[in-house]
Amino acid sequence: MKQRIEIEDWLTREELARVRDAVQRAEKLTSGEIRVHLDVAIMEDVMDHAAFVFGNLGMDKTRERNGVLLYVSVPGRKVAVVGDTGIHAKLGTAYWQGVLDTVLAHFKQDRFCDGLCEGVRLLGEKLREHFPHRRDDRDELSNEVSFGK
Ligand code: CA
Ligand code: CA
Repeated sequence: MKQRIEIEDWLTREELARVRDAVQRAEKLTSGEIRVHLDVAIMEDVMDHAAFVFGNLGMDKTRERNGVLLYVSVPGRKVAVVGDTGIHAKLGTAYWQGVLDTVLAHFKQDRFCDGLCEGVRLLGEKLREHFPHRRDDRDELSNEVSFGK
């Protein structure tokens, strides 16, 4: 049986705004673009679905191909990080393990908003090492949290 939950049960409007602000702040450090996507469905293979969402959100359209998606399947509390080709050329997927561990540790304690904000902050720090902020930076992808059903 599929467990149905609503995003509103999970994060308040204010908390969603906090996550958005975290993205905005993180993107001040890096030319990389970060997005957070929350799915209310239980996904068997989060990595696979995260890659699908990545394409769906047009995240492969950044100039330096350095978009990173923090994907969460909410009911199962499963998390995946997907980076674009520019990132994978420089960093492997193992690079994100520390970020995943941190997010999951927060989730285990029911600190959803903190987990997402902290995950975003860490992604920004990691991205900064290889993709520092540029003076001609544009906000290429929305900073708002996106949702799937
Ligand atoms: Ca940017
Ligand atoms: Ca952005």
